[in-house]
Amino acid sequence: MATRASVARRGFRVIVRAVCAVVLAATLTASATTLTASSTQGGQTSTCFGTVANGRLEGGVRLPASGSNYTSYSTLAIGLGRTWVHAEVRDIVVAAYADLASSMPDAVFAYGETGAREGGPFAPHRTHRNGTSVDFFVPVRDRDGVSVPLPTHAGNRWGYDIEFDAKGRFGELALDAEALAAHLLALRRAAKARGADLVQVIFDPPMLPLLYATRHGAALKREIRFMPRAAWVRHDEHIHVDFAIRCRRTR
Ligand SMILES: [Zn+2]
Repeated sequence: MATRASVARRGFRVIVRAVCAVVLAATLTASATTLTASSTQGGQTSTCFGTVANGRLEGGVRLPASGSNYTSYSTLAIGLGRTWVHAEVRDIVVAAYADLASSMPDAVFAYGETGAREGGPFAPHRTHRNGTSVDFFVPVRDRDGVSVPLPTHAGNRWGYDIEFDAKGRFGELALDAEALAAHLLALRRAAKARGADLVQVIFDPPMLPLLYATRHGAALKREIRFMPRAAWVRHDEHIHVDFAIRCRRTR
């Protein structure tokens, strides 16, 4: 039975999502008018400044649009400059996908928003401001058990409006908890191999038992620091990862 508090929470969530939808749509529209033709990646050396909540990025690079087992959430968003990261983050993300291509060859993955070319404010996100934050959409399987990318398009606010139930289901799609757990561990391995790390991962706390029930559960508890409380928006359809890259102080 819904309590008054839970109804209020749900109402707040609806308002937050509505505000996010408006802000993201406005951002995409505004960005479209200033889109330049340049997509050249600069040098391979990036410098991040400050924090994910108050920072910027120099010499950022774009995540690749796709690879053998992954894709971006939106080619439009790539064109609008919403997939820039620190070069070390790009290398970690790509290495983790390569790791998964051999360890889980039947699984496909999709990443979401990362940040602007020079970092800074990145509405509707509160962080993602210095090239060290990446959103990854959760891997899913269809009713036949086939791994498919989560459907991300303008109609569902590029995937961010998707709601999973407590069992990890969204319509006929089911969260692939094994693949998500493997992905997180692959990211940590790739980060550590490059002298970096993961700061924290945000994922809907009520859904965490689904990850801990996988064969990677014990390793996840040991290796991955999940934010213990719920974030300001529910992170059920995507995980948010902050990478520990050495950044300079903001000047
Ligand atoms: Zn995020």
